[in-house]
Amino acid sequence: MLRVAVVGSGPSGVYAAQTLVQQREVPGVRVDVLDRLPCPYGLVRYGVAPDHEKIKSLQGSLRTVLEDERIRFLGNVEVGGERLTTARLLELYHAVVYCVGAARDRLLGIPGEELAGVHSATAFVSWYSAHPDATAEDFGLAGVRSAVVIGAGNVAVDVTRILARGVAELRPTDMPEPALGALAGSGIREVAMVARRGPSQGRFTTKELRELGTLPGVDTQVRAAELALDPAYADPAAAAALPAVNRRNVEVLRDWTTHGREAGARRITLRFFLRPVEVLGDADGRVTGVRFERTAPDGRGGVTGTGVHEDIEAQLVLRSVGYQGVPLPGLPFDAARGTVPHAGGRVLRDGRASVGEYVAGWIKRGPTGVIGTNRPCAKETASSLLQDAAALARRALPADPLDALRAAGLSPVPWPGWLAIETAESALGRSLGRRSVKIPDWPTLLAAAATATGDEPAW
Ligand code: NAP
Repeated sequence: MLRVAVVGSGPSGVYAAQTLVQQREVPGVRVDVLDRLPCPYGLVRYGVAPDHEKIKSLQGSLRTVLEDERIRFLGNVEVGGERLTTARLLELYHAVVYCVGAARDRLLGIPGEELAGVHSATAFVSWYSAHPDATAEDFGLAGVRSAVVIGAGNVAVDVTRILARGVAELRPTDMPEPALGALAGSGIREVAMVARRGPSQGRFTTKELRELGTLPGVDTQVRAAELALDPAYADPAAAAALPAVNRRNVEVLRDWTTHGREAGARRITLRFFLRPVEVLGDADGRVTGVRFERTAPDGRGGVTGTGVHEDIEAQLVLRSVGYQGVPLPGLPFDAARGTVPHAGGRVLRDGRASVGEYVAGWIKRGPTGVIGTNRPCAKETASSLLQDAAALARRALPADPLDALRAAGLSPVPWPGWLAIETAESALGRSLGRRSVKIPDWPTLLAAAATATGDEPAW
């Protein structure tokens, strides 16, 4: 038997586990999928926006994999802490695949970023997704009339949409009650999503962008003058040379220049060629707006400053400028890239492949791509591992690692525990007259998991 631990139960972890057990070359592979949280699915549960039900439904196929009899889910197991070091984990398994994602947000590095009312989009997403580590604040939404979202990726689109959506559209989702209540009580009328480069260089995908123009009661606008600054907008030959997604994005944006304002509507404004230089605040240390510098294309895909400034008013600022990987104690880390150095998924220590250690997903390639991008990424890693399998399997291992995890003071939540959490979330939803509603805190999640009945998972 080849015993493998996959650390992280998001898409890359689940796809890695699936590839390892479904292949035929190496028989008898068994995989424990460990997660720091008691709940599986990583960013599909805690990152995909609650109103994106179609993408969320991917949980169904991840679930089928985790219910495979050759795979065992063990939640509430933190790797890299005192109780379970990476070295100890490798004593318990022939191989470990780290699929721990890229958990940290990036800073802008401009004055005023520390003002009250300035947050990372990651923190906002975690809060409305009921991540149990999210801070319990309400983002001061009751006092917010206008918000600025900095960045032009899909996360920026997500948080812009959630801020602008009416509560009637959010209520049928699994959004936790505190976030739903705060958004319902929000006074937001204006959301500006601001990009430092041009419309043809947005990182959002067209489907996500287009959706911003379909929100009931929301008027979505762009300024024709800002679109015209982009050579790929003004010049048909340059537009034709764009990658398809960027070309389609420009077409969507072109349509929005003609929108007039509906009376009483909330408004989303997409702004371009503005780079943030300072967050502005009042005497009490609360944000009042963001100062941007107008930029211009530099002819090489980048922009240069023009020295012209514009202030946009905001009582809430979300920076949405990408994620970055966090070093896991005991694993090598390339701080510049925010990833673990690897060759074909094999972890490199001082440039040489470390026996039995692998990476997949964002911690391997950086925070890029859509969920499906993780499938080939995880496959590459799994096939490296399978090539090494004969040598790895020679090592004798102690008995069931579950005993060792418990002996180390950990309290793993097995699959029936997760199913009990799901049941509790359905019951919570029913009690509120809603569909299933997520539980947002550790004690309630663990208490729900503890009500699980059913067989102990064993090898
Ligand atoms: P992203 O796609 O990398 O976008 C980051 C944005 O921040 C870019 O517009 C970037 O501009 C901007 N930026 C970076 N540094 C900046 C600075 N100092 N000042 C101003 N702007 C700055 O990151 P993301 O939105 O966090 O998304 C991460 C990944 O998750 C992406 O692959 C995304 O597609 C995926 N995702 C997908 C979905 C979906 O499919 N529905 C939803 C959410 C996330 P430049 O381009 O100029 O650098």
